[in-house]
Amino acid sequence: MHFFHYKGDRLFAEEIPVEEIAEAVGTPCYIYSHRTLVRHYRAFDEAFKEVPHLICYSVKANSNIAILKVFVDEGSGLDIVSGGELYRALKAGVDPAKVVFSGVGKREEEIEYALNAGILMFNVESHQELLAIDRVAGRLGKKARIAIRVNPDVDPKTHPYISTGLKKNKFGIESERAIEEYLYARDNLKNLEIVGIDTHIGSQITQISPFVDALKRTRELIGHLKEEGIEIRYLDVGGGLGITYDREEPPHPSRYGQAVIEATRGLDLTLVFEPGRVMSGNAGILVTKVLYTKETSEKRFVIVDAAMNDLARPSLYNSYHAIKPVRLEEGREEIVADVVGPICETGDFFARDREIVRPEPGELLAIMSAGAYGFSMSSNYNSRPRAAEVLVRDDRWHLIRERESYEDLIRGETIPF
Ligand SMILES: *Cc1c(COP(=O)(O)O)cnc(C)c1O
Repeated sequence: MHFFHYKGDRLFAEEIPVEEIAEAVGTPCYIYSHRTLVRHYRAFDEAFKEVPHLICYSVKANSNIAILKVFVDEGSGLDIVSGGELYRALKAGVDPAKVVFSGVGKREEEIEYALNAGILMFNVESHQELLAIDRVAGRLGKKARIAIRVNPDVDPKTHPYISTGLKKNKFGIESERAIEEYLYARDNLKNLEIVGIDTHIGSQITQISPFVDALKRTRELIGHLKEEGIEIRYLDVGGGLGITYDREEPPHPSRYGQAVIEATRGLDLTLVFEPGRVMSGNAGILVTKVLYTKETSEKRFVIVDAAMNDLARPSLYNSYHAIKPVRLEEGREEIVADVVGPICETGDFFARDREIVRPEPGELLAIMSAGAYGFSMSSNYNSRPRAAEVLVRDDRWHLIRERESYEDLIRGETIPF
């Protein structure tokens, strides 16, 4: 569900023609729909209205501070995975008491930054990290609230690069070891306060059963902990709910909500969620201009001005993004073509053997569902300045990130000799 629609022959973002924005800010540019972001947040929030819960939008999905602020204004907390994300979160005005800090490799200065900011809790992913957090908290004379991220060993049935809850993945602590770690922390680490348990099993998950399986295992653990006198106040279910890129039929948040509520019924605690993709994925498009078309004896290519540095998902996961013309043209033939960028890599593509209406040079295309893991994964590879970002709200639009300049590309660089 999103608010990018054709009116007549033109693609609109809410009430604004996409062409108008592209003309003003140039291409490639990301365009986000405020109404879509808010709608997604509310649908998720609504799904859990009958139970105590806290939504912590996953900053890494789309970290622009204007996007974070949209969720913060809705009452959202934020899930961070680095000091840089904490900086963004605070700039966006989040209540630090609604921030959770995930990730396998938190550095001591990041832990210190988060403790000083007063975040809700750290999701701890190893024994050594437990020790590090205790040490830093001790040094600062603070107590650090922690949850242990448990790896429940369930198969989320998603792309292997984004499955995180299998034993072979680097994330979390194995269920069998988790109890030991909790007991160790309680008995030995005086600067920690155990408040939660966390289980994030992966991303772009389109079935309910992996979530339910993970919660079953987590529930057992919570029971064991209780027997040991450890009370869990926050159950962090993580993120991972998928979206429709192509023909996937992920569960609606309301159905996901029912399943999670059912699987956690009777536990007297606050549910925490870290949704990313489901909040922002379909709320953004990447607008690009066709530079050239060419035909070889084997194939047709549509060469556009966006590239894998702007949107890495197709190169990284071979993932599907719908590609739509920004202006519908009557009577054009359909062709089968690869839509590719200018970067010097064969992996620089947005679509392969895709049926599309033959575009002409200079025309605009919209790469759909690019609001999550789009700009936030972008880079300067091939010394390409990163794209502009625009947020549309009804009939207004704002540039929320300027296109980078050539000067930006070399900022911080010096020639020593
Ligand atoms: C990436 C990530 C998320 C968000 O995942 P989505 O699939 O975008 O919902 C949540 N929690 C953690 C720990 C993550 O690493």
